[in-house]
Amino acid sequence: AKRKGKNNFQYFDIVMKSEVDLVNLIKSDLRMALEKEQFFLYYQPLVDVRTGKVTSMEALVRWQHPKKGLLSPNHFIPIAEETRQIIPLGEWVLRKACMQMKEWLNMGYSGLSIAVNISVHQLEQLNFANNVLAILKEVELDPQYLELELTETVLVREMEIAAKNLYKLKEAGVKIIVDDFGAGNSSLRYLQEYMVDGLKIDRSFVNEITKDVNKAIIDAAVLLAHRMKLSVAAEGVETREQLDYLIRCGCDKVQGYYFSKPLPPDEATQIAQKVYQD
Ligand code: C2E
Ligand code: CA
Ligand code: CA
Ligand code: CA
Repeated sequence: AKRKGKNNFQYFDIVMKSEVDLVNLIKSDLRMALEKEQFFLYYQPLVDVRTGKVTSMEALVRWQHPKKGLLSPNHFIPIAEETRQIIPLGEWVLRKACMQMKEWLNMGYSGLSIAVNISVHQLEQLNFANNVLAILKEVELDPQYLELELTETVLVREMEIAAKNLYKLKEAGVKIIVDDFGAGNSSLRYLQEYMVDGLKIDRSFVNEITKDVNKAIIDAAVLLAHRMKLSVAAEGVETREQLDYLIRCGCDKVQGYYFSKPLPPDEATQIAQKVYQD
């Protein structure tokens, strides 16, 4: 038994060491990845519950790492935030997503908008709003087509800068969405502090919708959103049962594998196309 314990320990030691190695590798490789054009975007549709049509596409970043293969954002976004690489990466994502939206508009899909995930670290930059507006101008995209999804799990340290940025963006017509609603602990504070346009209920509540407590939380979130005149979306919808519940409780938009997983640009375009054909 003693021996086995030791082996187990060594096993975990190796796992932990390779975990640390991976983090270090990502840390150093992140620096060149932008220049080497190793990032790309997938798009996942959000569907309007009432019309059944795609109302927006969420841009989700991917990293084609030369040695590690395709990396999901959970593997590198937290590291990019720590090293501040999220600033140039986030700007790249914004520009790329806005360019894609412009392309869709040129194809005539005017009912669509593009949703982009923003890190709190970006929001705390003095010139963030100006940068976003400059990108919109450069791409010639009307601000009304852009939605910024902000996760509230990380605490905002630079409240004043963040608020100024959000105010400027809202004034220009950009929409602000609180992402992963309910998962953090500052959600309500967020709604009170900033004038947001909508909220997106976290996947964890949708995931176990059969539990009464999750139903109660979803009901409350929808009520709260509508009382505040906000739109309410739910992410991570995988089953008909989940969708039915969300329809019944008055949720406005839904997103998840039940409709579509995140797709490369050409496949996302096909989905948008289908919507505009019927
Ligand atoms: P998120 O913004 O909450 O995005 C939803 C995540 O759930 C995506 O994972 C998506 O692929 C996944 N998902 C969608 N539908 C379903 C479903 O029905 N079931 C399940 N199990 N999962 C579903 P992904 O693409 O790996 O992104 C993970 C997180 O990384 C995102 O969570 C977002 O916070 C962050 N992220 C992605 N792209 C960016 C970006 O460009 N900038 C920043 N700052 N963060 C990003
Ligand atoms: Ca999101
Ligand atoms: Ca989420
Ligand atoms: Ca999120």
